[in-house]
Amino acid sequence: MNGLMMHRPLLQSGLLDYAAESFPAAEIVSRRVEGDLHRQGWAATRARAVQLSHALEALGVQPGDRVATLAWNGHRHLEVYHAVPAIGAICHTINPRLSAEQMCFIAHHAGDRLIFTDLTFVPMLERLQDQLPQMRYVVMTDRAHMPETALDALCYEDLLQGHPTDRVWPDFPETTVSGLCYTSGTTGDPKGTLYSHRSNMLHALATAAVLGPDLGPQPRILPVVPLFHVNAWGLPFTGPLIGASLIMPGPHLDGASLWDLCDTEGVESAWGVPTIWQGLLAEIRARGAKPAALRHIVVGGSAMPRSLIEGFEKLGVDVNHAWGMTETSPLGSQGSLTPEQRALPFDQRMALKQGQGRRVFGVEMKIVDDAGLRQPHDGRAMGELFVRGNTVTAGYFKNPEASAKALDAEGWFGTGDIASISPEGMLTLRDRAKDLIKSGGEWISSIDVENLAVAHPKVAQCAVIALPHPKWDERPLLVVKPAANEAPTLAEIHDLLRPHLAGWQLPDDLVLVDEMPLTATGKISKLTLRHRFADHVLPDLRDA
Ligand code: AMP
Repeated sequence: MNGLMMHRPLLQSGLLDYAAESFPAAEIVSRRVEGDLHRQGWAATRARAVQLSHALEALGVQPGDRVATLAWNGHRHLEVYHAVPAIGAICHTINPRLSAEQMCFIAHHAGDRLIFTDLTFVPMLERLQDQLPQMRYVVMTDRAHMPETALDALCYEDLLQGHPTDRVWPDFPETTVSGLCYTSGTTGDPKGTLYSHRSNMLHALATAAVLGPDLGPQPRILPVVPLFHVNAWGLPFTGPLIGASLIMPGPHLDGASLWDLCDTEGVESAWGVPTIWQGLLAEIRARGAKPAALRHIVVGGSAMPRSLIEGFEKLGVDVNHAWGMTETSPLGSQGSLTPEQRALPFDQRMALKQGQGRRVFGVEMKIVDDAGLRQPHDGRAMGELFVRGNTVTAGYFKNPEASAKALDAEGWFGTGDIASISPEGMLTLRDRAKDLIKSGGEWISSIDVENLAVAHPKVAQCAVIALPHPKWDERPLLVVKPAANEAPTLAEIHDLLRPHLAGWQLPDDLVLVDEMPLTATGKISKLTLRHRFADHVLPDLRDA
C-alpha cells in the first residue's frame, strides 16, 4: 500500500523559488573577471535564470541537451547552473585546467553544442575552435566588455535582454539528468558522472542536515572550490536551501586575494582544497590576523595535514575535514564533531580531525580486502572503501566498459581509496590504492608520511611516491618543495618522523623540486612525479 502523500518531483528549480521568496537579505557577491564586485540577491538570481531559460529555449536547447560551461565562480555561472537543468537540459561543467586535448575529448564525448565561457577562456576557445566545429559560444559578459573575437559568439547580457523575468518552471521526473561532470582522469580518458535532480536535491538536504548546525543561520560562505569541480561541493544547491550568501571569488584564489575578500565580505565559512588553505594561512601569518568573521572551513579533495588543521584551529577556525568524489556528488563523509568529541583535549580533537569524519546520511560504507571480504570497522583494518547510496554514481556516461567495472557484485561503487573505519564510525583515508607503498609485504601510507613531513618548517609541500626496489618490492621517496630558501635534509625529516613511524616506514631518500606538479583539480600529481623520478636510484642501490 502506498502512503497517502503528494508526490512532487524533487526538482532543482524549486531551490531558486524557495530562496527568492524566503531569504531576501541573502546575496550573491561576485568578484568578476571584468574586475568589479557585483551583488545581487536570490530573487534577482532567479529572475535572471528565468530570462536565461527563455533564451536557451529560443536558441533551440531541448530537454536532454548538454550545455557546457568554462568559467570561474561567479553569479552568471550560477545562473547557468540553475537555468539549464530547470528546462530539463544538462549543465556540463568543464574544468579549464585540463589539457586542450582532454577538453576537446570531453566536449565531443558529451556532445556539447553550446558553451558558456568567461572572458578569460575566449583566447583558448579560439585556438580550439577548429576542433569543435559544432560549438556555439556565449561569452559571459556585457556589451561593453565583449571582446573582438574570431568565435561566432553571443554576449550573455544581450541574450537575457527582453525575456520575461518570471515563469512557472516545467515539471518532469526527478530522475532526469541535471548535471554532468568528468573526473580529471589521471589515467585513461576522463569519465562522465551524470547527476539527477533527485540526487542533487538529496545531496543538498543531507549536506544541510550535517553542516547546517555548524554553519548557523543564513551563513556567508566562500566557495573557493570551483563550480567546475563536482558542483562546488553542492553549494549552488545547498546555498539556496539554507539561505546562504555566496561570496564568489572569480579567478583570484591566492592567499592575499582570499584574505581581502573574506575580510571585507564578512565570510564565515570557506570551502576548498588544502593547497588553498595553505596559501591563506601563510597570508594570515604574514598579516598577523585572520579575516575578521572567518570561523569555519570545509576542506576535502585531498588529505588536510594535521599541521594545517592545527594552524587554523589555534586561530579559532573550526576545520571540517570531509571526503568525497566526483562520483559521490561529492559529499560522502564530513568531520563535524559531536558535543562529546568537542569536549576532548586539543590533541585528541586534532587527531580526530585528521580523519575524514562520519558518513553522511544516504551514503553507506564498507571496506573490503583484496579478496572482496568485508573488514571490521575497528579503526585498524584497512581495505578499499566501497559506497552505496542515492547520491553515488551507478556508472559512467556513454562508457559501458568503465560502468561495468564501477560496481561490485553487491552493487557498491569501488572508490579506489584505502581506508579504515573506527567503531565510532569515523572514516580515515589511508591512501589511494595506487599510491600505497608496498615494502617487504607491509604497507606504508603515503598520506601518513606526508602529513608528518609537511609539518617541518623547511617544507612547503611534499609528496611520497613508491620506487621499485629489488629486495623490498617498493620503497618510499620523499619529494619536497622547500619553504623559502632553505631545504631540509633527509636526516632532519627522519628526526621529525621517527617518534611517529616505524623505521622501515621512513623515506629512503629526499629529492627537491621548485614547484609541485598539480592536477587539474589542484591536487599534487603523483603520476607526474612517478614519471619524473622513475630513474631515481635510491641510496642503498647506488653502489650495487
Ligand atoms: P575527485 O573526484 O577529483 O573529487 O577526487 C576524489 C578523490 O580525492 C577521492 O577518491 C580521494 O582519493 C581524494 N580525496 C577526497 N577527499 C579527501 C580527503 N579528505 N582526504 C584524502 N583524500 C581525499
